[in-house]
Amino acid sequence: MDKIGKVYLIGAGPGDPGLLTIKAKECIENADVVVYDYLASPFLLDYVKKDAQIIYVGKKGGDHTLSQDGINQLLVDKAKHGLNIARLKGGDPFVFGRGGEEAQMLLSCGVPYEVIPGVTSAIAAPAYAGIPVTHRDHTSFVSFITGHENPDKKETSMQWDIYARSNATLVFLMGVKNLANIAKNLINNGKSPDTPVALVRWGTTARQQTVTGTLETIVEKVKKAKLKSPAIIVIGHVVSLRNELAWFDKRPLFGKRIVITRARAQASSLVSKLSKLGAQCIEIPTIKIAPPEDISPLKKSIENIDIYDWLVFTSVNGVKFFFDTLFDMGKDVRILGHLKLACIGPVTKERLQDYGIISDILPETYRAESVIKAFLNIKLKNKKILLPRAKKARTILPEELTKMGAKVDEVIAYETLLDMNKKEELINLLQDNKIDAVTFTSSSTVSNFISLLDSKNTGKLLKNIIIASIGPITSKTARSLDIEPEIEAGEYTIQGLVDSLLAYYESKNP
Ligand code: SAH
Repeated sequence: MDKIGKVYLIGAGPGDPGLLTIKAKECIENADVVVYDYLASPFLLDYVKKDAQIIYVGKKGGDHTLSQDGINQLLVDKAKHGLNIARLKGGDPFVFGRGGEEAQMLLSCGVPYEVIPGVTSAIAAPAYAGIPVTHRDHTSFVSFITGHENPDKKETSMQWDIYARSNATLVFLMGVKNLANIAKNLINNGKSPDTPVALVRWGTTARQQTVTGTLETIVEKVKKAKLKSPAIIVIGHVVSLRNELAWFDKRPLFGKRIVITRARAQASSLVSKLSKLGAQCIEIPTIKIAPPEDISPLKKSIENIDIYDWLVFTSVNGVKFFFDTLFDMGKDVRILGHLKLACIGPVTKERLQDYGIISDILPETYRAESVIKAFLNIKLKNKKILLPRAKKARTILPEELTKMGAKVDEVIAYETLLDMNKKEELINLLQDNKIDAVTFTSSSTVSNFISLLDSKNTGKLLKNIIIASIGPITSKTARSLDIEPEIEAGEYTIQGLVDSLLAYYESKNP
C-alpha cells in the first residue's frame, strides 16, 4: 500500500483572508489536495500549489454538494493514496464545524490528522462590528450556542432558563432562521426584552452587514433589513459598546462596491488599497496581457542591444516581457550595462529596480508627454532608442523623440487582448444595481469595458454609476465613448486614483 497521507483540519478563519494563520497558509501551500467549504474564503485558494487538486464540498443552507459521509470517504480515500490533504473549514474547525466528527472518523480509519485552529466567526464577526464578547464592566463570560440544533435530536439540549438567567454574552451560530424562536424563548424564561442584540452577517468581509436592536425589536428589524444567513447573533450588554467601538464599517469606503477593470495580474495593488479603505472590490478584468504573436522582433532587438544608447519603458508589462524574453534567451542584465534607461512612472521604476537597475530618467508626471519633457535637456541627436511596449500604443512618444533627432526602434513586447470572461457577471451586477463605481486605469480598460456591455444599453446600465479615471487621456477616451468620469486622478497613478476616489466619497459624506 502507498504511504498514507495526513489530513490537516484547518480553520480558514471567518472570511477576511488576512485572518488565516501562518501555519494554515503553509499547510495549504504544501497540500496535494484541498477540500473546502462554502464558508472558507475562496481567496485562500490563491495559496494552493499548481498541481494540487481542489475539491469543493460546500454546504449552503440545506444544499450539500457532498454528504458528510461522502466528505469523510473522500478524505480517507485521498489519504490512503498517500496524499496530504488540507481540509479547510470556515472559522475554527472545532467550533460547530463538525471538525470533531471528522477527526473521530479519521482516527477510526487509521488516517493521521492534525488540527490547525482558526479565528472563529463567533468572536471575529462581533469584533469587526465593534462588539467585544467579554468586557469587565458588562459580563465575565460568553457562551457559544447553536441556533440550529440537530433536528433529528430526540431531546433538546437547549437550556433556555440557564441562558436567560445568566448575564453571559450569548453568541448564537446558525441561528438566523430561528431568531424569533431564540428571542421568544429567552424572554419567556425571564430575560429582559430590553437586552441588546446584534446580528452580524458576512462578518470580517467587505460585505459585512450589522443590524442591532433588543430582544423585543430584533426580529422586526432583521426582517426589514432582509438580513439572511450566514450571520452571528450576539445577545447581551456588550452589544451596546458597538455605538462607541464600531470601526470596520466606519472606514471611508465601507460598503462601496467598486469594479476593477485592470488585467488580473495587475489588479492587486488597486484592490488592496481600496480594500484597506473598506471598499468591496469586484474584479472584472477587461484586459488579458499576452506575449506578442510574433516574438522574433523583440528577440532580435535584444540580440542587437549593443547598437542602442537608450532603453525606454512605458509600462510595467513592457519591463516584464522584455526581461522574461532576455532571460529566456539565456542572457542576463549585464548586456544592458552600456545603456541609459528611462521609464514612465514610479511603478515602472520600482519594477526596474527589481532587476537591479536604476532609471536615469523619471518624469514628473506619468504620461508620454512628460517623458518627452524629461528628454528635452538631453542630447538625442543620432542616439538610438529601443522602445519595447504594447502593440497599438500611442504614437506620440516615438514621434516626438524622432523629432528630437533620435532614431527610435519600437518593438512589440506584449499585446493587450479583450478579456470576455466576466461579461455576464458584469452585466448582471449592473442590472441588479450592485455596483457603485467603476475604475479605469487606461484607455483600453475603457474601450474594452464598453465592448463587454451590449452597446445599446450602455447609457442605462451606467446611469447611477460613478466613473473614476486615472488621468486625462483615459478620461478623453471615456468621453469619446459617451462616458463622463466624475472622478479623475490628480496624480496619474494607482495611488492618485485611490486618493481621488476617497476625496470624492469624503466630500459626499463629510
Ligand atoms: N466553524 C465556524 C462555524 C461554522 S457554523 C466558525 O468557527 O466560525 C456556520 C455558522 O457560522 C453560520 O451559520 C454563521 O452563524 C457563522 N458564520 C460563519 N462565518 C461567518 C461570518 N463571516 N459572519 C457571520 N457569521 C458567520
